Amino acid sequence: MREKRLKGKELNTVDKSIYLKIQRPSEKCLLCGADLVEARKHPSAIQPEGEDSVLRKDYCPRCWEQLDDEQFFSHWMAKREPRPERTRISREERNRLLLAYFEHLSRVDSSEMEALEREARRFFLAHLLMRFRVFRWKSTDRETGKIVFEHTQTNEEWSVEPLDLPDEMVLRIKQDIEEFLRKGQDLEVSF
Ligand SMILES: [Zn+2]
Repeated sequence: MREKRLKGKELNTVDKSIYLKIQRPSEKCLLCGADLVEARKHPSAIQPEGEDSVLRKDYCPRCWEQLDDEQFFSHWMAKREPRPERTRISREERNRLLLAYFEHLSRVDSSEMEALEREARRFFLAHLLMRFRVFRWKSTDRETGKIVFEHTQTNEEWSVEPLDLPDEMVLRIKQDIEEFLRKGQDLEVSF
């Protein structure tokens, strides 16, 4: 591999916290767009960016050899794991499943599921649906703090309790929803 190290700047002069900020490897060669995951092994380099940041650059071996005047803090051969086999779920399918789950939770009564657990899930899902532009925020009740969401297509309204969810609860709900989406791939939604 050709040396392209910045003079006087060795890797060990790079602060560890900066090093941790190195971005995730890119999928494609910065220059030619070649698939780097397929390549399995390719040159990666970091360059200083501003005062306290670094920029990660990934190249296919061919483009790397052709680089002439780029200078880097450090470079190495990055190894890439092949992409995991995954059945992909379409955006529409994902949105449909999330909405179905939200509607289901809005219908179950508290005896079936603890009220807080149900409201926490509705709260999380409503925000997720807003992020995916299925819902939009409509209003927040000044007295109760209840948040009203509106379906962007049907204008149907849903109100959600305002909650401050602890991180571990958010994580658990998120995992449950991901699990639900995985199952949903080969399940017809039954509710
Ligand atoms: Zn390339």
